[in-house]
Amino acid sequence: MNDVKEWEQQAAAALKAVARRMDIKAYVEQTPLLYGLLKKAALQYVTGESRIDGLEAGQRLTAKGYAISLEYIGENTVNAEECEAAALEITALIDDLVEQGTSACVSFDLSHIGLMLDMELAYTNLTKLAARAPGTELELFISMEESAKTEQILEVYKRAASKYSNIGITLQAHLHRTPDDLAALAGSPGLIRIVKDAYQESDEVAISRSEALNERYLQLVEQALADGHRVSVATHDERIIEEAIQRGLLTERGAKLEMLYGIRPELGSRLKSAGYPVQIYLTYGHEWYLYLCHRIAEYPPNLYRAVTNMAESRRVDPVDAYD
Ligand code: FAD
Repeated sequence: MNDVKEWEQQAAAALKAVARRMDIKAYVEQTPLLYGLLKKAALQYVTGESRIDGLEAGQRLTAKGYAISLEYIGENTVNAEECEAAALEITALIDDLVEQGTSACVSFDLSHIGLMLDMELAYTNLTKLAARAPGTELELFISMEESAKTEQILEVYKRAASKYSNIGITLQAHLHRTPDDLAALAGSPGLIRIVKDAYQESDEVAISRSEALNERYLQLVEQALADGHRVSVATHDERIIEEAIQRGLLTERGAKLEMLYGIRPELGSRLKSAGYPVQIYLTYGHEWYLYLCHRIAEYPPNLYRAVTNMAESRRVDPVDAYD
């Protein structure tokens, strides 16, 4: 392994550890200078702190011909009032999108709307949100979280999806269980997003970044399409995307590429110009700190960009980078 790769892996492990340290997060939030600097870095990946920021960036990307997903950032909420507040914010997001007439996916973590307290609360909030959107151009997308929560998330999803067809689920290619989870959904084709993973898991439950993971990723996409699901191929990995194109997966009905806002906009632009459906996943909210840590940890060279953005006097505007 060369020195740069080794540095990147060490930096990624350190950043994932920093992201889990709530004392560091609290320190950042209480230190105005540091908070301000990191917020500037976060604006590469997060549209801003308010719903208006997300909606405006979404409208500009829609005008450029991209489909959009929107997420009000948050996870692991352990206070019932905060879960209620998050569900209300997502409701307001749905209402604003309906009023704008924008077709979009609204994404969220079930642990943001109650899963940490009670599965029933998460289910109730999910179905209230789903009931808000039928008959509109909107779909809801449940994100996937740490493997300790996979079983519960799938259970809540399956129960709600049996009543509402406008709910999709994210599956993580790195988990050993995922091919079985996908097979279990074959009888009820819906909207599925395939991602690699954003969480560090043990070898017992997951495989790490490797050719084997890329191959499994592609097989999951192939299988999901064969089972009749509509599939979001959510990755920035050019090798996977090229191979998916070679295998004809992105011209299958119901397949689209999905990429995170601010990450590889040149790749998203190129693929859109080539005629592939490209969806950009935008986020907003006050809880951008962990989101920023995740985005740097999964690609440590982003640290250089973060430092550059912190030194910039102008606010970064990632939408400009999309053609
Ligand atoms: P990697 O192997 O991480 O990267 C491949 C290449 O892509 C890198 O070499 C680099 O060129 C580029 N790249 C990757 N990340 C970055 C970056 N941050 N900055 C710049 N370049 C980068 N994960 C979950 O666990 N649960 C979810 O619900 C979930 N939802 C997601 C929704 C969407 C739409 C997307 C795109 C991702 C989501 N993720 C989720 C995150 C995902 O699991 C990965 O952590 C993330 O996509 C990076 O993996 P990758 O597939 O791009 O491949």
